[in-house]
Amino acid sequence: MIDEARRLAPRFTARAAETDRDGSFPAEDFADLREAGFFGLMVPSRLGGAGAGFAEYADVAYELARGNGATALIFNMHASVTGALSGVSDELADALGLPPEALAARDDYLKAAAGGSWYAVAMSERGVGSRLSRMSTTYRPVDGGYRITGAKTFCSGAGHADAYLVAARNPDDPTQVSQFLVPAGPGLRVEQTWDALGMRATGSHDLHIDVTVPSSALLGGVEGLALVVAQLAPHWMVASYAAVYVGVARAAVDAAVEHVTARGLGGLPAVRARIGRADAAVAAAHLAVREAARRVDEAPGDSETTRWVWRAKLLAGTTAAEVAASMLEAAGTSAMRRGHPLERLYRDARAGSLQPATSDVCADWLGVDALGGDPDSDGVAPRW
Ligand SMILES: Cc1cc2nc3c(=O)[nH]c(=O)nc-3n(C[C@H](O)[C@H](O)[C@H](O)COP(=O)(O)OP(=O)(O)OC[C@H]3O[C@@H](n4cnc5c(N)ncnc54)[C@H](O)[C@@H]3O)c2cc1C
Repeated sequence: MIDEARRLAPRFTARAAETDRDGSFPAEDFADLREAGFFGLMVPSRLGGAGAGFAEYADVAYELARGNGATALIFNMHASVTGALSGVSDELADALGLPPEALAARDDYLKAAAGGSWYAVAMSERGVGSRLSRMSTTYRPVDGGYRITGAKTFCSGAGHADAYLVAARNPDDPTQVSQFLVPAGPGLRVEQTWDALGMRATGSHDLHIDVTVPSSALLGGVEGLALVVAQLAPHWMVASYAAVYVGVARAAVDAAVEHVTARGLGGLPAVRARIGRADAAVAAAHLAVREAARRVDEAPGDSETTRWVWRAKLLAGTTAAEVAASMLEAAGTSAMRRGHPLERLYRDARAGSLQPATSDVCADWLGVDALGGDPDSDGVAPRW
């Protein structure tokens, strides 16, 4: 799949300027991903997928993002849903007391993904961000299922996915925050709100929800699992984007090299040094992401693994923004023209630090930890 990602990346790059300009969904990139079997990347082989682990996902995400960060970011949402579902081992299911019907439903969702369905994430809300403990979208048990009502924002790929992971809270017991897989169709309405600085082609629009879903849509089959899962598998909530933004940073270096070579600027010491520093910074951030990913596969939930997950997100976000800015400066004003790859990459890279956990939140988490506190509970605001 990594080779396939490398093969597809130049095709994504060729289409990136147009989808960025129009803020349109990269439909052809997604057709390529579907045809090449990427929607089953995280699905276990027994269910027809490629059975990738987190480290393999990180390598794939990096390569896809070198082609188009927006495409890689939308795909990241699908990988997060399928990766988190696949990560529920039998032991974990036992420990959480998950009913057998929920495991059967999980397998059905994963099989559908291997067959070409793809899932988006509708978690964030206006004024709340992705803080699960503050969700205003609600669900209520009804005959045979749940009624979900609310509004989401920043939903990448909204209007194009086959189903949406929706986080909601039970108003009768606000401590219960649960996640549902809601199929596209009646009851979901997209409001086209995403006209953003960067990652424009993610089409991260608002999604209005007023829908009744069957009981099988409740992921895990037990209410109140959302916060538990966030703490058990922070890599999907915190660090999966990291590989995407390191890929964006590397794409900025690649674009700068192409630009300065074409213009004969490569002999200028200041330009060379900028490229050299950027190359080293991207390589270092990439190593941190790979180290975090390796540890997630080997010792998920371990405190040192979790530390690396937060480090990786922090380094990827800040490195992408700094490197893209420096590469634009090395290339000069002509690279600022609309449609130049560095102009898009500069804007796309800016989003890295803003995605949760933001660089500031990662730094705070690591600082509390270094000072001997409990980073999950000693922050000034709830982490989730
Ligand atoms: C390109 C892109 C695509 C996205 N796609 C999706 C998607 O598909 N699905 C989805 O659900 N969401 C998506 N998001 C949204 C994202 O997941 C976050 O929910 C959103 O960026 C957070 O919103 P916010 O910045 O408004 O709020 P906040 O997270 O509240 O951040 C606002 C400010 O408060 C600070 N802050 C927040 N929490 C703390 C804390 N605990 N301690 C100290 N300071 C804190 C932050 O550092 C920041 O400065 C996307 C975002 C982007 C940029």
